[in-house]
Amino acid sequence: MSEQAEIGVIGGSGFYSFLDNVTEVTVETPYGPPSDSLFLGETGGRRVAFLPRHGRGHHLPPHRINYRANMWALRSVGVRQVIAPCAVGGLQPQYGPGTLLVPDQLVDRTKSRVQTYFDGEPLPDGSVPHVIHVSFADPYCETGRQAALRAARGQGWEAVDGGTICVIEGPRFSTRAESRWHAAQGWSVVGMTGHPEAILARELELCYSSLALVTDLDAGAESSEGVSHEEVLRVFGENVGRLRDVLFDAVRELPAADARACGCATALGGQDLGLTLP
Ligand SMILES: [Zn+2]
Repeated sequence: MSEQAEIGVIGGSGFYSFLDNVTEVTVETPYGPPSDSLFLGETGGRRVAFLPRHGRGHHLPPHRINYRANMWALRSVGVRQVIAPCAVGGLQPQYGPGTLLVPDQLVDRTKSRVQTYFDGEPLPDGSVPHVIHVSFADPYCETGRQAALRAARGQGWEAVDGGTICVIEGPRFSTRAESRWHAAQGWSVVGMTGHPEAILARELELCYSSLALVTDLDAGAESSEGVSHEEVLRVFGENVGRLRDVLFDAVRELPAADARACGCATALGGQDLGLTLP
């Protein structure tokens, strides 16, 4: 039981280091190793698995994260609902540093990342996943989004309800031209890690929602000087404490694992997958 969890949080040591009795669990997957061990602990009676997205030493850049292994590893310890905090840049002047946004849409501008389990490539156990097309019109779990919004409100941090996150390949930040283009589309924030996490979660029938913390105004947003890594780290550090409070409240707000009423749990529609989900 100590090696099982019902809720997954993708985020670093700033989120779990203060929990008591944290169990470190190493998980193997057919896709290779995840970013790090899973760190399992309990909060408010809920079993949570934390996974440092970039590895505990933050050595993995966004484009080298093994997203398939990460999501598979979470599901294999029992996780069915995932909350994924991430640092983003604001594309609109009203979304300055310190803004918390709970996106309801995303635009995929990544280039090199494998974003499906169903690619017809044989797995080490000899099974061959079928080619399956999954509905992704609404990429985030609405139940998870509402839990996050309630949690933020409860902490006195009025989060932006909805908006579009543009996920770029990185690790570089955008040029001014790219950033102006993203802003002109009306997209809200830009980040490097929200995808393919979201679609891989859907393909594993996991609920997935995001808490996007704005750490800077992107290069194309009005009055921006351009983005520096130091500034991103500084603003993230200033907000990590209250982000953690919101995150833990959101975990407690999520429905019980066997009481999910959203469509995430049946996203694959009972099709023959050609592989067995963990
Ligand atoms: Zn859901």
